[in-house]
Amino acid sequence: MTCSSAPRAAVIGGGPAGLMAAEILLDGGAQVDLYDAMPSVGRKLLLAGKGGLNLTHSEPEEPFRGRYGAAAEPLRSMLQAFNGPALRAWAEQLGVSTFVGTSGRVFPTDMKSAPLLRAWLHRLRAQGLRTHMRRRWQGWTADGALDFGDEAVRSDVTVLALGGASWARLGSDGAWAPTLQGQGVSVTPLRPANCGFDRVQPWSDYLRSRHAGQPVKPVAASFEGRRQQGEFVLTDTGVEGSLVYSFAAALRDAIERDGRATWVLDLLPDHPATRVLEELRRPRGPRSLATHLKSRLGVAGLKLALLHEVLGAEGLNGIPRLAALLKAYPVELVAPRPIDEAISTAGGVAWSALDEHLMLKARPGVFCAGEMLDWEAPTGGYLLTACWATGRWAGLGARRWLASSANTTDACSAEGIQSPAADAD
Ligand SMILES: Cc1cc2nc3c(=O)[nH]c(=O)nc-3n(C[C@H](O)[C@H](O)[C@H](O)COP(=O)(O)OP(=O)(O)OC[C@H]3O[C@@H](n4cnc5c(N)ncnc54)[C@H](O)[C@@H]3O)c2cc1C
Repeated sequence: MTCSSAPRAAVIGGGPAGLMAAEILLDGGAQVDLYDAMPSVGRKLLLAGKGGLNLTHSEPEEPFRGRYGAAAEPLRSMLQAFNGPALRAWAEQLGVSTFVGTSGRVFPTDMKSAPLLRAWLHRLRAQGLRTHMRRRWQGWTADGALDFGDEAVRSDVTVLALGGASWARLGSDGAWAPTLQGQGVSVTPLRPANCGFDRVQPWSDYLRSRHAGQPVKPVAASFEGRRQQGEFVLTDTGVEGSLVYSFAAALRDAIERDGRATWVLDLLPDHPATRVLEELRRPRGPRSLATHLKSRLGVAGLKLALLHEVLGAEGLNGIPRLAALLKAYPVELVAPRPIDEAISTAGGVAWSALDEHLMLKARPGVFCAGEMLDWEAPTGGYLLTACWATGRWAGLGARRWLASSANTTDACSAEGIQSPAADAD
């Protein structure tokens, strides 16, 4: 028997997860049509490259997986099959060399995402990928076709890779959640992850007008027994930036539970408390306190303004209190910033709604991947790694589904599909 055509796969969502699923399906011999609501694919990936594209992290498997918290177990096989080294080798094949930064994070040598996306799309199109832009998926028609409003599309298998619910202007708006819930798919509520926070009391006008947007560094933050050094940015309403993101999940959960959370800052992380007190007690003669703080401890500018915010001009002269505040500066936080501003989204399609190949139990033949699944992780390359690893896994699952002729509209076309058993092991 000769087959007239390969089975048809529809991938909806052209972010890193969807493009990876498309690649795996093309490798397996499927015809792949990729749909996206935006005029072009990979918009969030391109944005990620603006601040230096952090592809993955070089730390060992165990701590790496631990970054995914409760989702570490469901993600285990996917992250083992496509881990940091595999990701780097994949990028290398696209002509993108990578390097490990001092923090252990992995970046493309040029730090950008545009060359990687360009090379990747070029290769995918050469493999036969057909892209359909400005097509917003709205669910299924009564007879089971994919509903794009003015067009209904039939496919033998579908991968949904619709992203989370942040930066809606780049395409991922979370509108898929009620659509899937309407199909009986359990979706854990979408919440901001890797986000900024609002302070209980707004910063003073003085602090905002002079220092909003500036980094506070070096500084170490503590919350719920964990301490980490880094830097953050003072915003109009509170705090934002990499150090905040690394505590964001714990802060968000505490605020949900208790109404507020106290993030404690050590403004002099390299100075023991005894040394701080000693330096402050040193006679300063005719010098002002500001000069003394700057020359003895390097405290000036924004850090000095932060102290002033709590103690006022008078209070700054109380040495024991000043020393204590320098080592434990409380920032009372009351709310995460809105989800649309977050770097990523927590929550999503529940693991219980999926089989081991990431197929929706409620919609056989429909697979899910990327940030729309119920996992979260800090920044550090963990987000993209999981998007690519789950995109690959869903693509393999979709291939396996197609390879079983019972699942294709044209039973003969399944012959052309390479079952992924060997790859998936
Ligand atoms: C500022 C910023 C910087 C970041 N930097 C990094 C970084 O350095 N390292 C890192 O690991 N991660 C980073 N991330 C996170 C990373 O970019 C995302 O986790 C990743 O892009 C998610 O991939 P995805 O494929 O799941 O979804 P997305 O990239 O969000 O793609 C989803 C696609 O689905 C489409 N879509 C959605 N709904 C529909 C619909 N109904 N119909 C049709 N199409 C639809 C969207 O248009 C979009 O193209 C950053 C994020 C931001 C915002």
